[in-house]
Amino acid sequence: MWTFTLPTKIQFGAGVSKSCAQVARDYGRRPAVVTGKTLVKTDRVRSIISDLGEVPVFSEVTPNPTVNQVDALARLIREQGCDVVIAIGGGSPIDCAKAASALVLSEESSIAAFFGGGKPLGAEHLPLIAIPTTSGTGSEVTPIAVLDDPANSRKAPLSGPALYPVHALVDPELTLSLSRYTTAATALDALSHALEGYWSKNHQPICDLAAIEAARRIFANFERACTDPGDLQARTELSCAALLAGMAFQLPKNAMVHACSFPLSTRHHLAHGAACAFTLEFAVQFNAPALGERFGDLARACHFSSAEAMAERIHTFKRLGGLPCTLADAGIAPEDLPELVLASFHPLMNNNPREVTKEDLGRMYGGLS
Ligand code: ZN
Repeated sequence: MWTFTLPTKIQFGAGVSKSCAQVARDYGRRPAVVTGKTLVKTDRVRSIISDLGEVPVFSEVTPNPTVNQVDALARLIREQGCDVVIAIGGGSPIDCAKAASALVLSEESSIAAFFGGGKPLGAEHLPLIAIPTTSGTGSEVTPIAVLDDPANSRKAPLSGPALYPVHALVDPELTLSLSRYTTAATALDALSHALEGYWSKNHQPICDLAAIEAARRIFANFERACTDPGDLQARTELSCAALLAGMAFQLPKNAMVHACSFPLSTRHHLAHGAACAFTLEFAVQFNAPALGERFGDLARACHFSSAEAMAERIHTFKRLGGLPCTLADAGIAPEDLPELVLASFHPLMNNNPREVTKEDLGRMYGGLS
């Protein structure tokens, strides 16, 4: 048995973000804009904001959005009487805006009430328009917000139907100025979503189709986008792949790669995509035998003859993008490993198609020294 749902209206294409003001009028009269400190100074984001007129702008979102930032944004939305929220950015501003859009229609003042095993989120939320500026998280089509709770050294996903954006404007032109590092990290985050959605124990046929197509496009266009950032065609392929990868994992959910990524981000400060990429090639080789013919279908679609060949290509991508490949690159000391291994057993690990033991992770990290 499986269910597929996607309540988000998607508009895709170069230049589509220019219709933001017009789209916002369909959902409310007073928008609030959520973005990042650096992004808010860029010409494209300033242009989107100026089309909206005089609107409150919250640009305090950091790369790992915190519970406190969500609460501050919700206070601003309430004080300003906003009735539609526009998130422009990578996963962080979008995730922060999703959580705040749900929080403002609850009776609580802090998202902490719903985070980390707290109360379930209700279905009510302000309409949220998501405009991704990276091709990675797929957050524009998922009911998930990954939040950081530094007071409790905890980074974890919050999920619920209230977190689906109502509308996504996916404009590949917004990714043209990404650095090589960010292009690589976000593309490998998207590849992790595609592969984990595909091999999750909860995989299902509609998400499988999206996963295979996303992975195929990433393997085919990664190098072009990294070496020629202005290549709009390669950027368009990666934007489409990240969107498809978001659709691929949002229902099956992620597995061991994302479970391992959380302590790599919170304790060792790797960016989310770099943290996912850190263990991805190991996971490909570890999980392939458990997938049987299903792995063959995926590998053939992506033009690989074996799991080893796919893993090798991922390793090449990481080197090209300047992402950490060894424990030393990631600033992880050998004596940190026992705690890192223990902290990796997030519930997402239970979705992995092959059981993962402490010894397996010890072997994986040992191989990276
Ligand atoms: Zn991810």
